[in-house]
Parts: sequence; C-alpha cells; structure tokens
Amino acid sequence: ATKNAPCIIFIDEIDAIGRSRDSKYGGGNEEREQTLNQLLSEMDGFDSSKGILILGATNRPEILDKALLRPGRFDRRIIVEKPDLKGRVEILKVHAKDVLMDETVDLDEIALATSGAVGSDLANMINEAAINAVKEKREFVSQKDLFNAVEIVLVGKEKKDRILSEQERKIVSYHEVGHALVSALQKNSEPVQKITIVPRTMGALGYVMHVPEEEKYLNSEAELKDMLVGLLAGRAAEELVFDSVTTGASNDIEKATSIARSMVTQYGMSKKFGLIGLETVESRYLDGRVVMNCADETAAAVDEEVMKILKESYDEAMNLLKDNREIMDKLAEYLIQKETITGKEFMEIYCKEKGIPVPEPKTETMKKDRAEKASEEDKKSEHEETVNTEGCEENSENEEPENQKEAGEAKDALKENEEVTENEVAEESKELCEKEESGDVAESNAGEAIGTTGDSDDSTGEGPVLTGKDADFASELKNRLYK
Ligand code: ZN
Repeated sequence: ATKNAPCIIFIDEIDAIGRSRDSKYGGGNEEREQTLNQLLSEMDGFDSSKGILILGATNRPEILDKALLRPGRFDRRIIVEKPDLKGRVEILKVHAKDVLMDETVDLDEIALATSGAVGSDLANMINEAAINAVKEKREFVSQKDLFNAVEIVLVGKEKKDRILSEQERKIVSYHEVGHALVSALQKNSEPVQKITIVPRTMGALGYVMHVPEEEKYLNSEAELKDMLVGLLAGRAAEELVFDSVTTGASNDIEKATSIARSMVTQYGMSKKFGLIGLETVESRYLDGRVVMNCADETAAAVDEEVMKILKESYDEAMNLLKDNREIMDKLAEYLIQKETITGKEFMEIYCKEKGIPVPEPKTETMKKDRAEKASEEDKKSEHEETVNTEGCEENSENEEPENQKEAGEAKDALKENEEVTENEVAEESKELCEKEESGDVAESNAGEAIGTTGDSDDSTGEGPVLTGKDADFASELKNRLYK
C-alpha cells in the first residue's frame, strides 16, 4: 500500500484479525496474533505525509484489541446505527429515484411508519411496491402500494387461502380490537392506523398497525407502562369475552416480558431495586444479547418483580376493557364483517360510542404540520406545493447560517480525501444560497448533491446523516424553484 499511496485500505469484519489477545474472547491464535502485531507496527509507521487511510468495519467493537483502538492507530470511531426518520426518508428517496411514483406518494409518511427498518428493508419495500403496481397494470406506484409493501416486509403477504373458522375469526377480532381500543384509551400511546384480521404468511392471524406521530428516542416510564398494558390487552380481551384464552398471545407476552425486564434491570424503573444495573448488553450491534450480572437470589427476585409488573398491566388492561365493553363489541362486530378497519373508521366508531366529536384524522394533521415546517414534500401535488412554498418563506431567514454551520460540521467529520469533494459541495450550496433569490439555480447542481447521498448509503453508510443534510438542502432548493 505504501507503494500505491495515496490510497485507502478498507478492512471489513476487522474483528476477525483484530480480536483481543485476551483469552477471555478466545484469543491466543498464533497466526492471527502475528497478523495483528504486524498490522499494529505497520500502522505506527503511518503519518499524514504518506497519504494512507485505513478504514475498518466491525459490528463487535467491544472485542477488538485495545491496542488497535489507541490514538495513532484507529483514531476515529464512526457508529453506523439504524437510520433515523430523516435517514429513512433519504434512503427511500435514493431507492425511489428510478421508480415512477404518482402524486399520492408521501415518503415522509412511509418513513414514519417504518421505525426500526434498515436500508435493505426500505429497498425491499420500494421493490415490493413496484411489483404491486405492475401486478395491477399501473404505470405509477401509489402510496397505497407503498403501505402494502411495508406490511409485506413487516408481517408477510396476505394469505387469502387460509380460511379461519367463524369462532377463530371472532377470537382474533376481539384480540386485535383489545389492543387497539386500549391504546386509544390511553393518552400515552400511538394512534391506530389499521386493524386487520386477514392472516399473513409470517404467522400473524391479525394485527394492529400503529403509526407514531413523531419518532422517539426516549421513552418515559409512563409510555412503557402503557405499552405493556396495550400488549397484554389482546389476551385480556380474549379472557373477558370468551372466558378462555388461546395461544395467539405468545408474541405479545414475549414482547411485554422483555420490556418489563428491561425496566427492572436496565432502566432503574422499579422501586424495589432502584438504580442498579442488573444486566449489561453484550453485543450491542448484533443481537443485543443481555447478560445478568447479579447473584442468583437477585435474579429470582427480578423475575418476581417482572411478574408483578406484568400482572398489574394485565389487570389494568382488563379494567379498561371492562369499562368499555360496548365499544369493544361494536368494533369487533365491524371487524368481523369487514376484516379490516382503517384508523379513521376506528375513530368514528370510537367517538360515536364515546359521544365525543370525531377529531381530525391524525395523518392529515401530520401532513399539515410537516408542510408548515417546509420539509421536502412531493412537488407534483399542486395543493401541497403552495403550502410548502409559504413555509419556505417563513424559514428562509434563519436558514442560511444554519446551512453553513452544517457544512462546517460535515467538513470536520469527513476524512482528508473526502474533504475536497465535500468542500466543493458546501461551496456550491453557499453559492446556491446566494443565487436563490434571483431564481437562477441550476437544477443539475441539486441533482449532484443528491447523488452523494446515494453513494454513502450503499456502502457502510459512513455519514448518511451528514450528506443527508446536503441532499435535504438541495431538494429544498428544488422546491423553491417552483415558486
Ligand atoms: Zn396480540
């Protein structure tokens, strides 16, 4: 490599050779150790004048040899996490670039509904949506296709040939309505998007789809408790109505248990134990496996505490459903007939029974909010366009310094070799900023900036967030062209 300098060396899965020499991690393999030692001493010889850049990638940073992580060797650590809302919007845009979409498509909404999905999931969703559109002999992908695709990726295809017996349909309906009703009754939980009892290939007999109003990074204790109550409500509904229970709740129970356990052992949310960390997460970037580090008696007590939390949640779910039995019956009846209830229909029935006015559908208000924030929206829809440009005007005053700051941040975080191109992009953006008022923004520039996002997303995604900002900015500019 020194011969070919300047160059970049990329070592994928660096934990294969850079594993800690400590025997705790199964170190002590002669050959590997020699490779590592050689690598270490070679890396010591590098300095900035040689123009060699080493990149390593691993999803088990905790088992790497400490010597490898010392300053002077791998100086900087870039953590590539699951994409956040903004990241998902950008990834969707990248994959949607070559797909024809009609004006109903709102990628922000899709991104919001796919919390926790990674790049490959999102690519898969766009692909499924395209297949769906082709199947129905349409030339454009619609928002409905995309939502269908999200469901296919998350829970599997509809399994139309599986016929449930009358009794089973009834049970599944009550189970799902139980989930949905309880989450509607609690103010801390997400609005219901859709309830369905059409079986899916991945095993679900029915499910409730939630779409959060915004992405969350923190969950309060109250929210976690509400989640538990919501999860257990399916089973509670079964018991309340049929006086017997089925195997259908196993997945709910599993999820609820793991939340309750984390509350006790990791988040310090139990009065009994207080702020003690009883579990540590071992491989955070792989399966997130946890290891108990406490005495056996404590472990047993933890189990008891978890059971207590679950019991309380179940009782609460039961009480909520008992108090709203009539609404539940109405909803279940409707669901058995129609197989699917949208969030809107759900709210209509719910509000009618409760005797309160039907609120404006959440998705609509969400759209408005977002349009006001002047985020990147579909330009094809004329109505939204006008709202959008108004938003832009409001924001444009304080936007310029922000963008420059962002460009500065991007510069800091990027490596030498990338700095040049990124600087260019930043320069360009600045220029665009200045030119924008006179309205002679070259569209091709904006296109280029989007191109950079694409590259970084496809690789290990070194800085989807950083370049993402540039792309955002570019599309914002594009929006303004329509003024
Ligand atoms: Zn359930």
